[in-house]
Amino acid sequence: MAAFGAAKIDALLVTSLKNIRYLTGFTGSAAQLLVEPHRTTIFTDPRYDIQVREQVDCQVNVSSKPARALETALKRRAIRRLGFEAHHVHYADYARYREGLPASTRLVPTSGMVESLRAIKSPEEREAIRRAVLVNSAAFAAAVKEIRLGMTERDLAAEIDYQMRLLGAEGPAFDTIVAAGPRSALPHAQPGAKPLEANELLLIDMGAQVEGYASDMTRVLHLGQPNRRTKQLYRSVLDAQLAAIDAVKDGIPAGAVDRAARSRLAADQLDALFTHSTGHGLGLDIHEFPRLARGESTVLRTGMAVTIEPGVYQAGLGGIRIEDTVLVTGSGCEVLTPTPKELLVV
Ligand code: ZN
Ligand code: ZN
Repeated sequence: MAAFGAAKIDALLVTSLKNIRYLTGFTGSAAQLLVEPHRTTIFTDPRYDIQVREQVDCQVNVSSKPARALETALKRRAIRRLGFEAHHVHYADYARYREGLPASTRLVPTSGMVESLRAIKSPEEREAIRRAVLVNSAAFAAAVKEIRLGMTERDLAAEIDYQMRLLGAEGPAFDTIVAAGPRSALPHAQPGAKPLEANELLLIDMGAQVEGYASDMTRVLHLGQPNRRTKQLYRSVLDAQLAAIDAVKDGIPAGAVDRAARSRLAADQLDALFTHSTGHGLGLDIHEFPRLARGESTVLRTGMAVTIEPGVYQAGLGGIRIEDTVLVTGSGCEVLTPTPKELLVV
């Protein structure tokens, strides 16, 4: 890996399963990967003996004691500076490495080495995200037809998850959010026993996982005719979302996209109600690098897949958030999400 020099390491121990999947294609739930300048070795246990050999091209080490096998390999290689993923190693594992390795091997914390590679999606990854987005939108359309007053948030979340699987998703990319009425003011509400009632907002935030890749979409519906205040709020959020989408382009700092949404809401004195960032990268994980947040200097690049999702949340009334998955291009961005964005009245 070209970044070894900058990080001053001789090898990298990858423990994040998503990072291992990205680098090797292995989809099992237990493995460690040792990346050296001229070879890469995956360590796993016999449950994955057949699978790992089918999925990866690198060297394979299968052992009923994979931690010990790794330790032995590390000792034999006499690595001077071994990078590890600081955000993905438990303290107990760190202590074990420290104890098992010779004093001449220094453990060097690293951060985001694989994640920064993952930010730019290959053509195959873009296709997987596209498929996840289409399943997402089709499942949303199917679930909306099933909405009835009196059903609970949880009933509707179950319907959405069912439709996603029926349409080919491996499952939801994250816990589906269905929040009705004042509960929609909680940006990460968990669907509960609250029944859907007339004359209130209904916020749905959902994602489908297809071939390991996530999509992410939020839409807000109104049960019955919305009042003027609700329509105004919706219009402001939609304008902010469109302004942020307009700002997305190869070469633009992520913070500029956030600023576009925030200043549009400020024009309607609503910026104080926008309590989270404008978006995030997504791929194998639902939240990935880069963050589209205030002051973020990361430069957007062609091939990044990100969400654009400004929202306003007013206690007592509810929340409105509109979220699409988009692909950064040289001239701007491609909005992948086909679901219409006008306030849906049911
Ligand atoms: Zn979302
Ligand atoms: Zn999101």
